[in-house]
Amino acid sequence: MIQKDFVKTLKKAGIVGAGGAGFPAYVKASSKAEFVIVNAAECEPLLKKDQQILERYPEIVFDGLEMMMKATSAKSGIIGIKKKHVKVIEILKRAAASRKNIEIKLLGDYYPAGDEFCLVYDTIGRLVPMGGLPINVGAVVNNVETLYNVAIARKYPITEKFLTVTGAVKKPCSFKAPIGISYGELIEFAGGANCKDYAAIDGGPMMGKVITDFTLPVTKVSGGLIVLPKNHSLILKKSRPDNSVSRIGKSACDQCSFCTELCPRYLLGHILNPHKVMRSLLFSGSGKDIHNEFALLCSQCSLCSLYSCPENLDPKSICDMAKKSLIEKSINIKTASMDFENQPKVHPLRDYRKTPVSKLIARLNLSDYDKAAPFIEFNYVPGKVRIMLSQHIGVPAEVIARVGQAVKKGDTIASVSDDKLGAYIHASINGKVSKINNKYIEIEK
Ligand code: SF4
Ligand code: SF4
Repeated sequence: MIQKDFVKTLKKAGIVGAGGAGFPAYVKASSKAEFVIVNAAECEPLLKKDQQILERYPEIVFDGLEMMMKATSAKSGIIGIKKKHVKVIEILKRAAASRKNIEIKLLGDYYPAGDEFCLVYDTIGRLVPMGGLPINVGAVVNNVETLYNVAIARKYPITEKFLTVTGAVKKPCSFKAPIGISYGELIEFAGGANCKDYAAIDGGPMMGKVITDFTLPVTKVSGGLIVLPKNHSLILKKSRPDNSVSRIGKSACDQCSFCTELCPRYLLGHILNPHKVMRSLLFSGSGKDIHNEFALLCSQCSLCSLYSCPENLDPKSICDMAKKSLIEKSINIKTASMDFENQPKVHPLRDYRKTPVSKLIARLNLSDYDKAAPFIEFNYVPGKVRIMLSQHIGVPAEVIARVGQAVKKGDTIASVSDDKLGAYIHASINGKVSKINNKYIEIEK
């Protein structure tokens, strides 16, 4: 009964994975697990907000962790954090002293230490099966901010987002801003861009997407904004159209297989071979599908494209395209011709092939932007917010607000029925609903 109430609370508070995945937290809270693992790796370069949440609100995150442990009947709570965060680890150790069954596990400073499969292996030594989930080996993984939100869910639904805004801005900083505020206002709050022609990456430099439309709103899964000159190599590479990625890949890939040899999932023993997916570019007919099937195991970490490939090719995007083509043919992990059932076996050289974040930052040409982004209070109320109906995994929320309706911060404005996977949506400022369409609800002050 207590678990049912808790699950309902999380659903009504609209809590979804804040680390970028957007998976509704109530589903994880409904499962049975041995371990709840806190993903405090924050391995995307330049982002700082998770460490700042832990530094400022350790007790709240621990409360969220204990609630998830209780809901899932987990006997053990584990915080996976990089050992370089010495100050935060000291704070966590002090907070953990008064808690039961919570352990801190130290991780190396490599990318992607926060990949769920890597994190599970590095903290509890269990290997998530190919195409599986951490729950298959008894673990539930939650991001730091998600647990913060879980802890406050009974009082506050999700209306705000922790963000780091950094890169080519005058005052790199982190703060908590209303969901639905535009990215342009975030950049202004960070002092404005310090170059004339700029673009930004929504999320981390590795897995984030390039945006040039700064009227776009912040969602529950936004993690930060990396502002960069439009001609920065990372922006140029991430903006390449699919047809040129394929054409260049087809003519320039020399099958050196570096992309595979450094792939984090391959190193965990999964039969993911991005160089063979690249080879598929030369095939037509059934040979292409068979080579494409490796891509079903890709986590989209981008290491192959932004670090490993000596030819500056983009195997990650080729894997994305391969997945799309397989979906169109209804080929998935279960229906694929490849045998994904075997138990993975960790590569003997995994520890020597982990990618250090410092080297990654240099390779990404981001060394000049690797600066502090201190946490500051967000003392600005936007004139309007646009709250997206689909900012999570599952069905879009169904609108229950009306145009002209006065709303207060925290009011439910869109919901999801009990039989569907999704998340409730709430007003993030006090104001009046000024516009509703099939994508968003707009509220004006
Ligand atoms: S690393 Fe680059 S060149 Fe080498 S196999 Fe992979 S995509 Fe081809
Ligand atoms: S993006 Fe590349 S390196 Fe990352 S999991 Fe996929 S194939 Fe491997």
